[in-house]
Formats: sequence, C-alpha cells, structure tokens
Amino acid sequence: MSEQAYLEEIFAQVQARNPNQPEFLQAVAEVLSTLAPVIRRRPELQRLGVVERMVEPERIIIFRVSWLDDANRVHVNRGYRVQFNSAIGPYKGGLRFHRSVNASVIKFLGFEQIFKNSLTGLPIGGAKGGSDFDPRGKSEWEIMRFCQSFMTELSRHIGADTDIPAGDIGVGGREIGYLYGQYHRLRNEFTGAITGKGQAYGGSHVRPEATGYGLCYFTEEMLKEKHDSFEGKRVVISGSGNVAVYAHQKATELGATVVAMSDSGGFVYDANGIDLARVREIKDRHGRLSEYAEAYQEGSRGIWNIPCEIALPCATQNELEEQDAKTLVKNGCICIAEGANMPCTPKAVRVFEESGILYGPSKAANAGGVATSALEMAQNSMRYSWDFSKVDARLRDIMVSIYRNASLAAEEYGKAGNLMFGANIAGFLKVADAMLSHGISY
Ligand code: NDP
Repeated sequence: MSEQAYLEEIFAQVQARNPNQPEFLQAVAEVLSTLAPVIRRRPELQRLGVVERMVEPERIIIFRVSWLDDANRVHVNRGYRVQFNSAIGPYKGGLRFHRSVNASVIKFLGFEQIFKNSLTGLPIGGAKGGSDFDPRGKSEWEIMRFCQSFMTELSRHIGADTDIPAGDIGVGGREIGYLYGQYHRLRNEFTGAITGKGQAYGGSHVRPEATGYGLCYFTEEMLKEKHDSFEGKRVVISGSGNVAVYAHQKATELGATVVAMSDSGGFVYDANGIDLARVREIKDRHGRLSEYAEAYQEGSRGIWNIPCEIALPCATQNELEEQDAKTLVKNGCICIAEGANMPCTPKAVRVFEESGILYGPSKAANAGGVATSALEMAQNSMRYSWDFSKVDARLRDIMVSIYRNASLAAEEYGKAGNLMFGANIAGFLKVADAMLSHGISY
C-alpha cells in the first residue's frame, strides 16, 4: 500500500468514528495531507501505528456544569476537557467559553495543540477544553458562579504535573482568576495548575501579550525571508480580543499601520490607523466595537475587502473563506499569518499557496501564547518571577526557532517555503519519536 493510500485509509477510519465533527475532520485532514513523505522515509511509523494512535485522544472528559443566575434560576451547560496526547509532557491547552463549543471544536483545537506544543520545543503535551456557556450578557456574579461550578468538576482531572489549562476565547484574566481561586480552594495547594494567572498570584510577565506579540515576531521572520519587514505596511487584524489587541500593539511598534479590526458583529476601518487605546477601553468594559461608531460597518467578513499588505486573522476558526482569500490577493496582500486557530478554510489556504504569497499556519504562528504559558509553569515550579524583558526575549527566540524548524522541515521533505507542510512535519516527528520510545500500549 502506498503511503498516500495508508493515510487515506486512516482518514476514512477517523471519519467513520467521528461523524458530524467537521472541524475535527478538517484539522486531521490537513495534517494527514502532509505526512506521506515522512512515512516514506520512516516506515516504522506505519508498522507501529503511530498515526492511528495520534488521531485518537488519550482521554475525553465531558461533564455537567450547573449554576444559578442572578434570579436564582438553574442553568445547565456542558463542560469538556480533551486530553489528546501526553507523549512529550503534561497536557496543556486553553479553555474556550463560547456558545459554539462542542466536541468537534474542542477536539480540533486539542489535536492542533499537540503539534503546536511540540513546535515550541518545550515539554508539553496537547489538550483543550471549554464549555458552551456564553459569557455575553452575563453579570460578573454569574460568570464567577459558572467558573466555580466548572472548576469543581475539572479540578479532579488537572494538576501542575498532569494537565495545565489556560485561556482562549471567552476566558481571559477575570475568568482565570475565578477558575484558579476555586482550584486553590478545593485542592488546598498553591501550584501552577493553570496559566494566564494575574501577576499578584503567580502569573508571568508577557503572558497576556504573548500570542499577539509572538504572531508578529513570527511574521517578521516570514517577511525577512523576502528581505521585507512590517515597516510602512498596512495591516488588517480580525477580532478585537486578547490576540488581536496585542498583535495591533506589536505590529504598530514594528512600523506598520493597523487599518482595520473586527468583532463578531462588524469591523472598524480607518486608513490612518485604528486607535488601540479606544478599542481597549471598549473591550475592557466588555463593550461592542460598534461604539467606535464613525469607523464602524456591520458584518465581520467585510474586513477582508480592505486593501492591506499583511492580514492577521485573530478571531476564530474558518473566518476567512476562499473568496476572501482571492480578494486579499487581488488587493495586493503579500503575507497572511494566523493568530486564531485554523481561521482560513482549506480552500482559502490553497488560494494563498497557488498565488505564492507568504502563509503562516496557526500551529506555528500563534504558538507564542502556549510557549509563554510553559515559561509561566517553569517560574511557578521555581517559585520565582522573571522580568518582562527576559520573558519577551525568550518568546522572541522561541518564535524564531519555530520559524526556522518549520522552514527547514519543509525544505528537507521537498516543499521549501511551505510553512504549513514544515510545521506539521516538525511538530509530528518529535511526538512520534516519543510515542515510539514509550511502546505500543502507550
Ligand atoms: P477573545 O475572546 O479575547 O477574543 C475573540 C475575538 O474574536 C473577539 O473579538 C470576538 O468577537 C471574535 N470572535 C469570536 N468568535 C467569532 C465569530 N464566530 N465570528 C467573528 N468574530 C468572532 O479570544 P482570543 O483573542 O484569546 O482568541 C482568538 C483566537 O486566537 C482563537 O481562535 C483562539 O483559539 C486563538 N488563540 C488564542 C490564544 C491566547 O493566548 N488567547 C493562544 C493561541 C490561539 P465577539 O466579542 O463579538 O465575540
């Protein structure tokens, strides 16, 4: 059987076992589509079933989360933790609170996290979790009660040496505080079992900024390959949450003008540059971007019609489709780097590849967040705190090394310049080797 046929057979099994999970199947299909040259060179990976094992989570935990609203009415949500792969270290990955959360979304995120965490070069396995709880419109007390109920169950399954959750969509500093507070209360121990914590209780400098900054450091490396930089470029950033805000800050520091940002309702456009302080003021009080009224237009997808040289999708999965990709290319975009997880559909990615513009896949480009979380874990276990510049310098080094490793793997396996290909292979190989070492019953 050819390597390609073998991988197609695995995909057919994954499809049969996971019906109605489109996001998970999309993520698996992308990774499998790049592995044939690796299997050709390393036939023992096929003989010992490494890929078959890697596409099946080690453990999936699904639990009830009941909580009381401010009127004392009972609500029930569903909680998830998918502990996907711990071959290279304890499970690590964020928690997402959004009404769209289901098993497919959490499994796709957990699967991606395996390769992303491996690419950082740090010893962390892949996981993801969350709930279909929608924080929008909830009071401060309702969010606190939900987080406490969620953690009451989750606390049985996590720990500083087992599984270390962090934030994601809908889970920022406030939610991490409530989640950690409840964990601490239940376990009576002060460990680094969650990252993204506040500075006052064990958080790391640069963790809030890390994904957005890391994205820009990675993009800088991509541009350098073409003897180019952020200087003088127009940048479009979708989303206006944690990743988007710090991507704006760093891109601006590096000499670019961020001309547009969005939320799920619409986008703001200003050719002279979006006022970041204003966006942050709105977001800090959980307001809507429509309050930036004079620059606002309805419909979040319209953001991709704005001409720019660099596009940084930083909102959510599949937010940038084939037609959006064609429009970006037609309008002169030279570089796309993904801050969100899997924001570009497979057809959009094909447009970027065929047009020859730079494309940085999420599992490499947005790995700065989890890398800095691993630095937070290191500081927690030492009971020590590094200063901002030290963590920022480490983050930058890690992003440069992720870029180099992805780039080298792409070249070594015959697709020079294709960072999606290189990131998948470089991330896969380290985990595959660890799984081989651990034996088959692993
Ligand atoms: P936030 O919750 O801080 O912000 C999310 C932003 O995306 C908001 O502006 C939100 O708008 C927008 N958004 C969410 N869903 C949709 C949708 N369906 N359509 C359009 N816009 C939407 O999340 P983060 O910034 O933390 O995460 C953004 C992305 O980055 C996610 O894909 C996440 O997985 C990824 N990521 C995050 C990391 C981190 O460290 N935080 C690390 C690595 C990846 P609205 O407020 O209207 O919902």
